[in-house]
Amino acid sequence: KVYHGFKLAVLATFGLFLLEPSDNVDVLVGDSGVGKSCIVLRFVRGQFDPTSKVTVGASFLSQTIALQDSTTVKFEIWDTAGQERYAALAPLYYRGAAVAVIVYDITSPESFTKAQYWVKELQKHGSPDIVMALVGNKADLQEKREVTVQDGIDYAEKNGMFFIETSAKTADNINQLFEEIAKRLPRPPPPT
Ligand code: GDP
Repeated sequence: KVYHGFKLAVLATFGLFLLEPSDNVDVLVGDSGVGKSCIVLRFVRGQFDPTSKVTVGASFLSQTIALQDSTTVKFEIWDTAGQERYAALAPLYYRGAAVAVIVYDITSPESFTKAQYWVKELQKHGSPDIVMALVGNKADLQEKREVTVQDGIDYAEKNGMFFIETSAKTADNINQLFEEIAKRLPRPPPPT
């Protein structure tokens, strides 16, 4: 049984989406280039294609996963990366989001700083019980790492987020990321 339609809008640098704020979209944010589109494509299509950016623009993707307690969660993802013209509306979207996924690139301290900015924005404008995930992507680039695992863990712990490092390239922890989100989604009241 599908109990929760998870709608995820992928935001670019400050990117945005096509949905009305009233649609209660969840958000995936992070600096441009941290790998948001690649994470989504790895999750939905099981492939890594660094050149897919253009074709992904404003497309709709969906993927369903089954949890161990036999519930099913359907992710509906609009990747509209690049539509920054809606940036001023972002706080409207934050307000309705049940989930925010904040991504940085472990080889880029700037992207980690920017991620912290988004966390603050979401704390300020988002719902008080928003589920927030901090994702350190490009974990395959160990030799270029500039943000330590401990940096991620510490920041996430302080801010009540869950933390995971992923690689869209090798598929490491991509399914786990979406499973962890699914597990933490607010459950509907049981049928009476
Ligand atoms: P977005 O702007 O956040 O959506 O970033 P993209 O998904 O377009 O990815 C930006 C660049 O990072 C592309 O060149 C990808 O090939 C690369 N990339 C994304 N994820 C990974 C990853 O996990 N490992 C490596 N090595 N490169 C990645």
